[in-house]
Amino acid sequence: MEQLKGKSIFNGIAIGRILFYSKNQQQVKRNKVDDVEAELKRYENAKAKAIEQLQELYAKAVEEVGEANAMIFEVHSMMLEDDDYNESVYNIIRTEGVNAEFAVATTGDNFSTMFAEMEDEYFKARSVDVKDISERVIAVLTGAEETEGIGEEPVIVVAEDLAPSETVQMDKSKLLAFVTHLGSSNSHTAILARTMNIPALIGIEISKEWNGKMAIVDGKQGLLFVDPDVDVLEHYMEERKMEEAQKELLLQLKGQPDITKDGKHIHLFANIGSLADVANVLANDATGIGLFRSEFLYLEKDTYPTEDEQFQVYKTVVQNMAGKKVVIRTLDIGADKQVDYFEMEHEENPAMGYRAIRICLDRVEIFKTQLRALYRASAFGTISIMFPMIISVDEVRQIKRICDEVKRELDDINVSYGEVELGIMIETPAAVMISDMLAKEVDFFSIGTNDLTQYTLAIDRQNAKLDNIYDSHHPAVLRMIQMVIDNGHKENCWVGICGELGADTTLTESFIRMGIDELSVSPSMVLPIRNIIVNMNVGE
Ligand code: PEP
Ligand code: MG
Repeated sequence: MEQLKGKSIFNGIAIGRILFYSKNQQQVKRNKVDDVEAELKRYENAKAKAIEQLQELYAKAVEEVGEANAMIFEVHSMMLEDDDYNESVYNIIRTEGVNAEFAVATTGDNFSTMFAEMEDEYFKARSVDVKDISERVIAVLTGAEETEGIGEEPVIVVAEDLAPSETVQMDKSKLLAFVTHLGSSNSHTAILARTMNIPALIGIEISKEWNGKMAIVDGKQGLLFVDPDVDVLEHYMEERKMEEAQKELLLQLKGQPDITKDGKHIHLFANIGSLADVANVLANDATGIGLFRSEFLYLEKDTYPTEDEQFQVYKTVVQNMAGKKVVIRTLDIGADKQVDYFEMEHEENPAMGYRAIRICLDRVEIFKTQLRALYRASAFGTISIMFPMIISVDEVRQIKRICDEVKRELDDINVSYGEVELGIMIETPAAVMISDMLAKEVDFFSIGTNDLTQYTLAIDRQNAKLDNIYDSHHPAVLRMIQMVIDNGHKENCWVGICGELGADTTLTESFIRMGIDELSVSPSMVLPIRNIIVNMNVGE
């Protein structure tokens, strides 16, 4: 038996045979061509066909994993239209008089190396994407089949790395788990694995020899067992049985109110990134949406989403939630979420830079467009608006003035809107320390523990090297949460947590005893948290 330790992307246990997945890497030969113009035409045709394939993949991915996660295929199409990429291919064909396959492979290698060497994590990650699109075009040029499927038997897929296009093409019902050597927890493939609820590990030294062998993936502890001993196999079969029984049990909690044994009611909400995630919220019986990351609407597009486009999305979300509370966070871009058409300057330290509410208060028209869409949608359900990255009372007052202006403008044109609660995210130590003052200004606080941990501990949340000391359980973070709850309650503000820590089941009881009013978690964590709530006493 071999036992290896990696990093877990998604919990759960998988037991099955390994499929060693290697890409259909093309051996591209350099050939001289007589007719350069005909070669350029071949490239254009292959590119058009590749874009067509990507559009089909996009549609499939939207169905399976939602619009925000399917975005990567739009990005791939855009990359294939990129002027620099195309110029490079044309130049190689023209100046060297060679075949299109060779020109695409060379361009793909050059661009991929260039991206890999960039400091910025976002651009670094594009290195894999540019390789992926180049391989797609080469496959069309050579008439190779698209990436082969994973067969009829359910398997644990082991690969050096997986591109999102490969992941999404695999038949979900045959996928037990993913194990890769490369990739980071923020890669698109990792995000897809989480959305598909599939156990996944990264950072494992893989071997081709494993193909066809029996294996166990323990997503809880980040372990892979190849050729497991009988006692290990028996242990994990038992664990998996318990996991399945647990899932069944949890389903019985659907429809139950989130009330502790001694009567304290907690609002158990879910986090979403797109309209497509609402189905998951309802399937897991969350009683509201505590964080709609609206920036995905902007990230999905190549130009500003219009007021009407946004209105349609917000309206549909609240209508689907049928009167349940929907907390929509205004645009939170910057740092790791970059949008080209915002044309932002390069920053040395983007996590502490021009981002979130700072952009909105600077580019007020963009902010007002979103607010108008939100207020209009509030006529169709229960909307609360939440503002990210707050550091001062002055910011909140500016925001409230702009909201009043938007409402006046809607009144002037006889457009109706509902009662809208206004709240802020508490994700900077500054906001914590003045939470007594901020509480006088707003209806609620939602604690963003992802950024609050980053800024409190001075640890970049994107930096994989620091993952082991990025500790949301640090007493400084926990004391801050208590302080925010107490200050909020003195002024009748409800207080929730919408960062990842809110779904940490080891802390659910503590949070409730600390006085938290709301927890907003990924949809799949709703029932496990309900299970704790309904079985505990606050007064214990
Ligand atoms: C947070 O910072 O905890 C949060 C919920 O926001 P995001 O993860 O989108 O920055
Ligand atoms: Mg945040």
